[in-house]
Amino acid sequence: MNILDILFPKSCLRCHKSGKYLCDSCVKNTPFAETICPHCNHFSFYGKTHDQCKREHTLDGVISVWKYTGVVRLGITALKYKYAQAIARDLAESAIFEVIKYKIPKSSIFISVPLFKTKDNWRGFNQSELLAKELAIALGYSHLPYVLVRSVDTKPQVSLTKRERVRNMRGKFAVNTAVFDIIDKKRPIIIVDDVWTTGATLKECCKVLKQAGVREVYGLVLAQA
Ligand SMILES: [Zn+2]
Ligand SMILES: [Zn+2]
Repeated sequence: MNILDILFPKSCLRCHKSGKYLCDSCVKNTPFAETICPHCNHFSFYGKTHDQCKREHTLDGVISVWKYTGVVRLGITALKYKYAQAIARDLAESAIFEVIKYKIPKSSIFISVPLFKTKDNWRGFNQSELLAKELAIALGYSHLPYVLVRSVDTKPQVSLTKRERVRNMRGKFAVNTAVFDIIDKKRPIIIVDDVWTTGATLKECCKVLKQAGVREVYGLVLAQA
């Protein structure tokens, strides 16, 4: 325990029990996400992309931990505000036992979605990067920051329809060669994000990575909206 825990004791974001931002019973009460194919949204074992849904440069699968509800939703929302690091760590540690069931290969590299700068995110805070790092630490994987970069600022996704979202993402990401060139392209890449809504962002990130020579790319999200 450090001095901050004494001055600002942690309590559950949902039931206010002291100890953690996400208490064990509120986490247990949060339903797990459905395992779905990221391309047709129908059931698939372990969130793997169905063979018939595979195209050039498509995601090989997506791991979604919880539904976007309860204490998980509160935790993800709170990441934008205070104590982001500590909340990200609680979220990552709560996700361990579910994520290990997916048996992600040990050689995988965890990366994040490039920073969004919108009016809701004026600080330029990248919660995807924080989650990628904390999940990699909690689960024992390599993590590399700034593998992908954003080439142009895009319009905020929330104001757009599904079709517009896909269009809005197109051509907005690029690999950061300074970091990317040192990666063995045979190692699977796991792109971490907070919430899966349409998957447009993760799909575009995947496309850029595969075009640059990465063989296997999966998404890992804490919650499915
Ligand atoms: Zn609680
Ligand atoms: Zn499918």
